[in-house]
Amino acid sequence: MTNDEVLRRAFLARTGQLLGLTIASPYWALGQTAAGDSPFTLGVASGDPAPDGVVLWTRLARDPLHGGGMPRERIEIDWQVAADERMSQVVQKGRATATPDLGHSVHVEVNGLEPGRWYWYQFKTGPHLSITGRTRTAPDPNKPLDKLSFAFASCQHYEQGYYTAYEHMVKEDIDLIVHLGDYIYEGGIAKDRPRRHSGPEIISLDDYRNRHALYRSDPALQKAHAMFPWIVTWDDHEVDNNYAADIPEDGMQRERFLERRANGYQAYYEHMPLRRASLPRGSSLQLYRRLAFGDLAEFSVLDTRQYRSDQPCGDGNKPQCAEALSPQQTALGTEQERWFLEGLQRSQKRWNIVAQQILMAKIDRGTNEPLFSMDQWSGYEVGRSRILNFLHERRIANPVVLTGDIHSNWVADLKVDFADPKSPTVGSEFVGTSISSGGDGEDGQDEAERYHSRNPHLHFMNRQRGYVRCDVTPKQWRSDYRVLDYVSKPGSGIKTRASFVVEAGRAGVQKA
Ligand code: FE
Ligand code: CA
Repeated sequence: MTNDEVLRRAFLARTGQLLGLTIASPYWALGQTAAGDSPFTLGVASGDPAPDGVVLWTRLARDPLHGGGMPRERIEIDWQVAADERMSQVVQKGRATATPDLGHSVHVEVNGLEPGRWYWYQFKTGPHLSITGRTRTAPDPNKPLDKLSFAFASCQHYEQGYYTAYEHMVKEDIDLIVHLGDYIYEGGIAKDRPRRHSGPEIISLDDYRNRHALYRSDPALQKAHAMFPWIVTWDDHEVDNNYAADIPEDGMQRERFLERRANGYQAYYEHMPLRRASLPRGSSLQLYRRLAFGDLAEFSVLDTRQYRSDQPCGDGNKPQCAEALSPQQTALGTEQERWFLEGLQRSQKRWNIVAQQILMAKIDRGTNEPLFSMDQWSGYEVGRSRILNFLHERRIANPVVLTGDIHSNWVADLKVDFADPKSPTVGSEFVGTSISSGGDGEDGQDEAERYHSRNPHLHFMNRQRGYVRCDVTPKQWRSDYRVLDYVSKPGSGIKTRASFVVEAGRAGVQKA
């Protein structure tokens, strides 16, 4: 069998029992989830929970790796939301239209639901039923909330490893999953990897669609989407490695790159449970947004790729040249930065969570002279310093920054001036490692010690794969670094490598 045939058979099997979810809905008569030509090959998803509703997602694709295989026509999809797993107490239902222009994806914004509880949902088209997904609304924003639990993840290169982390994540007792980007990777096929991309570097809309479909064919990833609502943001590889706004990694001409970016952005929207506010417009897509959970927490979800100025000083690890210190440098763009700071100022929540991509703490990576990664906030020093000073001066309550991108775990205090250990600590940063990018990884503590010696605000670093589980209460934040032994083959167990807490009202991280 070819790679494609294996995948196609796997899709068919997978629409049935493999996910271990409820598949039969006696109350939605005559539907079948396991029918041979089911278009529900990519599973279901939900996202961006609000107190009264959530986004429900699916995409019809009979031939997901080859453009979707659907007729170029509009297709009606019925959906139902129920209060129980068996889908017997239906509380909302409706009909959505899947159009070829959006790859036959649908994004149903359900409302009228109750806050802070689980719901189940299902789609139907013709005789075909999707699997049943589970989702959860956000708690009432005006009522006290005693706990929020979630896991955050990033960087899931399909070729470089298995998604075992998600098999463990779905067993966690959490309310939602946060994904910080590098959901797909744009590169072609590489040699000697545990899994294979299905084609060369992706450029066209069809390429990006097929790549998303390949990644979403993974049963563990499908299950993670079906079990929890997600909050997503992207990083660079959803379009092109280390791109900055309209500047590509290599020498592609600007107009062509913007077309490519539009393709990447559209395919991203088509595959994620995002609201209409994030519908792509030309080569732009607004992804930055806020989500509140009771009186306990507010997420500011940032986009540090679409509006940033180019990486300064020639990118890579460099001393901060004049360009990195220039007030012209921006990671967020003026508009997003203003929106971000205004939101922090207005927030009444106990914890102010910033879900973003790039390392915010200033980490000197040099061995002799100081070296900083120009792709991270150290390449945008004036903007970083403006944000950290704002947190300090406005006494923003309990800021916690969540970061992905660098395929490694880091825990750091955020300081007004990183060069001065006596400078005020204004927040805490938890950087989560990759799901699979970079392969098996390692727990090399020599490297960590080298970083510690040059960066006293750093509490932990390690290069194992996995994710971070966060438990947030009014008094305390706890992050558990969940790590795998390997991803080069399936089946790794998981353990908690390290745990850290932040006490409410006291900025900075402590060992749990
Ligand atoms: Fe990555
Ligand atoms: Ca990245």
